[in-house]
Amino acid sequence: MDASTRTATEESARREAVVECSRVTRTYERGGGGGWLSFGDGGREELPTVTALDDVSLTIERGEFVGLSGPSGSGKSTLIHLLAGLDTPSEGTVTLAGEEVSDLSQNELTRLRLEQVGIVFQRFHLLPSLSARANVALPLVERGMGKSERREEAADLLERVGLGDRQSHRPGEMSGGEQQRVAVARALAGDPLVVFADEPTGELDTDTGATILNLLGDLAEDRAVVLASHDEQALDRTDRVIRLRDGQVKSA
Ligand code: ADP
Ligand code: MG
Repeated sequence: MDASTRTATEESARREAVVECSRVTRTYERGGGGGWLSFGDGGREELPTVTALDDVSLTIERGEFVGLSGPSGSGKSTLIHLLAGLDTPSEGTVTLAGEEVSDLSQNELTRLRLEQVGIVFQRFHLLPSLSARANVALPLVERGMGKSERREEAADLLERVGLGDRQSHRPGEMSGGEQQRVAVARALAGDPLVVFADEPTGELDTDTGATILNLLGDLAEDRAVVLASHDEQALDRTDRVIRLRDGQVKSA
């Protein structure tokens, strides 16, 4: 391969979209019951719907560490759920790893998510009765990987997040920062194309949070990482910030 071909290849690798959404709106009906409030006399009144996201379009490429900012209630978690294939839009399209999410069956979507998406939540969401290694290996069970291979990969991932010496610890025996590192290792199991982190430092002190942010930034080298946060210091570490307000993108 000559230099110009290599440059073109590198360029196209850099431009690979891993997740996109186009004109996405997500409304929630208030109070359930299809948005209708029934009265004893047979009359009913339509309840207002909440527009959590309003006509949002964006593209996230491989290699990017993207921040998603906005005050509480601005739609960050709703957007992450949609981009991660955990929820479907009321209007518009989401394309994840080249597949349009609404074209997929439930099984196909589950498989796509399992193979291409990792998620880190604010409250870690580890299973308390399982060791760190077993928590990390869990997504690999679902992917059908054999036991010894799983153990090996989970052990390697815990090494990668600096917890090589905590393999057998249960979540209750670890600090918040350590638990979140286990959650990052779990999100990486199976080498996903995109990792979403929804307020991952919300429960951590500043120094511990910084360790998690460094780790997430490093991961973006060969995939995409999306960090939802309302902490400007955390957002400063990202390559660019998409700003949400009242469900709309204010700047990207
Ligand atoms: P953020 O993560 O930025 O705090 P969210 O995405 O959680 O914002 O919420 C955006 C808006 O959607 C808020 O007004 C919230 O109350 C509303 N919302 C979120 N989830 C639901 C739900 N399951 N049912 C009804 N409204 C919801
Ligand atoms: Mg949120």
